[in-house]
Amino acid sequence: MLEVRNLRKEYGEFVAVDEVTFALPEQGALAIVGESGSGKTTTARMIAGLEAPSGGSVVVAGEERPAGRLRARERRVRARQIQMVFQDPYASLDRRQRVGDALAEAVGFHQRLPADGVRARVAELLDMVGLDDRQARALPKALSGGQRQRVAIARALAAEPRLLILDEAIAALDVSIQAQILTLLRRIRTETGTALLFITHDLGAVRHISDEVLVMQHGRVVEHGPVATVLGAPQHPYTQRLVASIPKPGWTPRRRAERAAA
Ligand code: ADP
Ligand code: MG
Repeated sequence: MLEVRNLRKEYGEFVAVDEVTFALPEQGALAIVGESGSGKTTTARMIAGLEAPSGGSVVVAGEERPAGRLRARERRVRARQIQMVFQDPYASLDRRQRVGDALAEAVGFHQRLPADGVRARVAELLDMVGLDDRQARALPKALSGGQRQRVAIARALAAEPRLLILDEAIAALDVSIQAQILTLLRRIRTETGTALLFITHDLGAVRHISDEVLVMQHGRVVEHGPVATVLGAPQHPYTQRLVASIPKPGWTPRRRAERAAA
């Protein structure tokens, strides 16, 4: 459903994204991993149409996206296909708007429905992300970080996207909440058939969510393959370092520190 060819982004002399090429099948799940500044967000923003590429192309469902700024109608069409969820849901939610109203607004934006249809769809979205009426009546500040991220995911799903891009979407959450959101995303993928592009600096999370992983460093793809292959036998020195830094089960931070000191 997505083909990215020689995608490139320059900021003046600086090349933030350098000839990135990959494909994502319908209902597939791909993770992009790399340290901060490796070009992950810029790549995602170009795919979502929020940023114009300096070169290369993004083909969605067989159709090449027009380069340059999109018109309002094109933006809406693309939003139906590709939705993005960011690290900080609080920043993307209106603090004065109750969760249920925010979701109703998103549903109304993407679909022409009568009022009771909107209500039913909002209830469905809440259910899909494991929230209920209580949270629907709440303002974002009354919710936990994990609940807010569930709201952001529900709002993205209102568009019935074919691709959901999650950019460090669980990075700010506690580890146990991260695991819950990963489980939720797996279920959403199964239930709705949406493809996932999961962006993270944490290679450990990748095996729980994606089929394939693409490793970026300095704007370039240094490794790309099935998760089991890349994690099991990393080829590039950078990937080898990333894999070595994944905490092993049963290793407490203390024991790691002791080993590092030994
Ligand atoms: P990541 O998401 O992997 O942390 P980014 O895609 O955000 O990386 O950024 C890649 C590089 O591009 C960084 O060095 C960043 O400073 C630079 N960059 C991103 N956006 C801009 C911009 N609007 N202007 C100039 N440089 C930018
Ligand atoms: Mg980023």
